[in-house]
Amino acid sequence: PDRPLRLAIIGAGPAGVYTADLLTKAERDFEVSIDLFDRYPAPYGLIRYGVAPDHPRIKGIVKALHKVMDRGDIRFLGGVDFGTDLTLEDLREHYDAIVFSTGAIKDAALSIPGSDLEGSFGGADFVSWYDGHPDVPREWPLTAREVAVIGNGNVALDVARMLSKHADDLLTTEIPENVYAGLKASPVTDVHVFGRRGPAQVKFTPLE
Ligand SMILES: Cc1cc2nc3c(=O)[nH]c(=O)nc-3n(C[C@H](O)[C@H](O)[C@H](O)COP(=O)(O)OP(=O)(O)OC[C@H]3O[C@@H](n4cnc5c(N)ncnc54)[C@H](O)[C@@H]3O)c2cc1C
Repeated sequence: PDRPLRLAIIGAGPAGVYTADLLTKAERDFEVSIDLFDRYPAPYGLIRYGVAPDHPRIKGIVKALHKVMDRGDIRFLGGVDFGTDLTLEDLREHYDAIVFSTGAIKDAALSIPGSDLEGSFGGADFVSWYDGHPDVPREWPLTAREVAVIGNGNVALDVARMLSKHADDLLTTEIPENVYAGLKASPVTDVHVFGRRGPAQVKFTPLE
């Protein structure tokens, strides 16, 4: 073509950034121009808003993503929500190709009677709180002494660990001020992690 191939990527989590990186670096005989959109002003998706603050190695992935964005050959457009600010027709009008890398941000429904009662929360909400996600309130009602965590994946362990750690041990991380204050004042003494199957079937990593 006599102009660069125009590509839109929706979602600037690791999948979106790595897609942009691979496409700009790939060997080809035509130019590519890439616009990377995200509904939030800041990129990096769940690396920023999902991974617990005390996972420095994983949080460190942001550095690698930063490098890609710093090169200057990918244009980042934050604060643009696909579905409200931007439609598929808009994109089709301006781009030759579109990649969707919007992640999976919702909790799976828990089919346990009472799971909708007061004091019961989805992991995604709690995680969003301790990671300072802009869509959730700053305050979290940390008033329980005993907490049940349902599930045996990495997120269950993240949540259990964040609840049981001393807040001061998190000061070396990027923990938001309001989260530090919330955890510091938390009266929790016991965290119980429930799994429906046995230890051989847990989904968290051995390190966890
Ligand atoms: C609580 C939790 C803890 C985790 N801990 C770890 C860990 O310790 N180690 C590990 O390796 N992995 C961890 N993961 C998994 C890791 O975060 C994900 O695998 C990874 O972030 C997925 O990348 P992604 O780019 O596909 O999606 P995401 O990171 O979700 O990025 C999607 C992006 O798309 C944007 N977006 C969504 N909808 C729209 C829209 N309509 N318009 C515009 N933009 C939109 C979002 O704002 C977001 O920035 C964790 C996940 C969670 C939920």
